[in-house]
Amino acid sequence: MHLSTGDLLRAEVLAGTELGQQAEAVMARGELVSDALVLAIVRHRLETHSQGWLLDGFPRNLGQATALDSLLFQLNQSIELVLLMALPDEILVQRMLSRGRADDTEAVIRHRLEVYRQQTAPLIEHYQQLGLLLSVDAAGTVDEVSDSIRRSVGS
Ligand code: AMP
Repeated sequence: MHLSTGDLLRAEVLAGTELGQQAEAVMARGELVSDALVLAIVRHRLETHSQGWLLDGFPRNLGQATALDSLLFQLNQSIELVLLMALPDEILVQRMLSRGRADDTEAVIRHRLEVYRQQTAPLIEHYQQLGLLLSVDAAGTVDEVSDSIRRSVGS
């Protein structure tokens, strides 16, 4: 199961749920939605779908990583691998601008990168220390990057 917290949050915004209303302005600013809100989404999905998953865009800070650990412990599951897709900022910004998502204006993207550096980047060392981190160069085409991931995980 591909579980993208961003996709799930956008679906909530679109459906106009209470959760979506709480998240909308925060997402438009390029900041992180509260841990409690995101965790509720992830918990629900992992409880109902435990047969293999890929978390995309989660965890985004150390608090979420810790909460994920206890959730997985309760569910008797564990993380097999953490994938870092490494990319220079300028390529990243160009790719995001070409997607045309509502929160993909240059100012919001730059802010998201700042939030990433402060809150998410510490997870790199965290998962490196746990021996779970695999870093791939994400500068190539989709096919090239997919191949490189497949080669690295040996599938
Ligand atoms: P993404 O689709 O992963 O780029 O996420 C889009 C936006 O959704 C982010 O800028 C955040 O506002 C919010 N979001 C997605 N995942 C998370 C998360 N794990 N924690 C907090 N906010 C998140």
